Amino acid sequence: MLIDGHGREVNYLRISVTERCNFRCQYCMPEKPFSWVPKENLLTFEELFLFVKVAIDAGVNKIRLTGGEPLLRADLDTFIKMINDYKEGLDLALTTNAFLLPEAAQRLKDAGLKRLNISLDTLKPDVAAKIAGKNVLGQVMKGIDKALEVGLKVKINMVPLKGINDNEILDILDYGRARDIKVRFIEYMENVHADQALKGMHGREILEKVKEKYTIKALGREGASPSFNYLIQELDYEFGLIDPHKHDFCENCNRIRLTAEGNLIPCLYFDEALSIAESVKKGDIQGAADVLAQVLKDKPKENRWSEDELEDREISKRAFYETGG
Ligand code: SAM
Ligand code: SF4
Repeated sequence: MLIDGHGREVNYLRISVTERCNFRCQYCMPEKPFSWVPKENLLTFEELFLFVKVAIDAGVNKIRLTGGEPLLRADLDTFIKMINDYKEGLDLALTTNAFLLPEAAQRLKDAGLKRLNISLDTLKPDVAAKIAGKNVLGQVMKGIDKALEVGLKVKINMVPLKGINDNEILDILDYGRARDIKVRFIEYMENVHADQALKGMHGREILEKVKEKYTIKALGREGASPSFNYLIQELDYEFGLIDPHKHDFCENCNRIRLTAEGNLIPCLYFDEALSIAESVKKGDIQGAADVLAQVLKDKPKENRWSEDELEDREISKRAFYETGG
């Protein structure tokens, strides 16, 4: 079992397999990124897999592949199969913008993937084009349909933004309910790479929108999940709210993040990271395990988004496309 310096059990590894992306979401990567990692610095799937084995052997039982856009990385299904074959019953999931999913869904399913989180911020083509920087909605919708058709379990992530998609919260809930998909609203997390003019909706404002039409009951967090669940009583339908600005958000944090070039990151907010690249390139299992132990020891108690209303606030310098959200 992996325990961090604050006594929390860590059993969840998120791996960003590439920081590259085919979208330019305003809240994530509106411009060309601050630095493209040169291709030769990317860890190969074999190198990433060495660390995956170290992490699983130490107690990780949930892995999510993310990015950037993970489906841009060729042979992702081969990597999924390697992980899946290593440990039966592992909770293996993927987060994607779904643009390449129509073609990839069946291969991912065949490789052993069970669950997908898909970003869907709007049901309006022009708003989707505004958020993502290109005309994407038709293809994303096809991707969602295809994932459901091949039998993958899907959740939808929406980041509500003031004046952009804040009037679509109820519509996205309808969309999810009609397909038996859980919707999770994610509070916009301020960071220096995003379009600085953006204003995210606070969790309580998102809930107010839902309450304009429905009665909701708070159900609580599901284990260490960052999502706080609510039930819409009239519909008997559950949705989630990911609210990192709330003070208790980090209490049960169970995750660490690995970037495509091998930086092991203890917290989504802060810049600190230690590299496993040298160890995995040498096949040094003990070296990789030592870095993992140090990162757990250094894991901060909580993020600083909750302090964002303070005047001396510090905006996170971490890029979501690098850490994978
Ligand atoms: N490209 C994939 C996608 O968009 O689903 C995976 C990577 S993306 C960085 C992972 C998640 O982070 C997405 O659900 C996205 O909406 C979310 N995200 C990115 N930037 C964010 C921000 N500034 N605040 C909140 N969520 C953010
Ligand atoms: Fe790409 Fe996902 Fe970031 Fe959008 S949120 S720019 S799709 S990595």
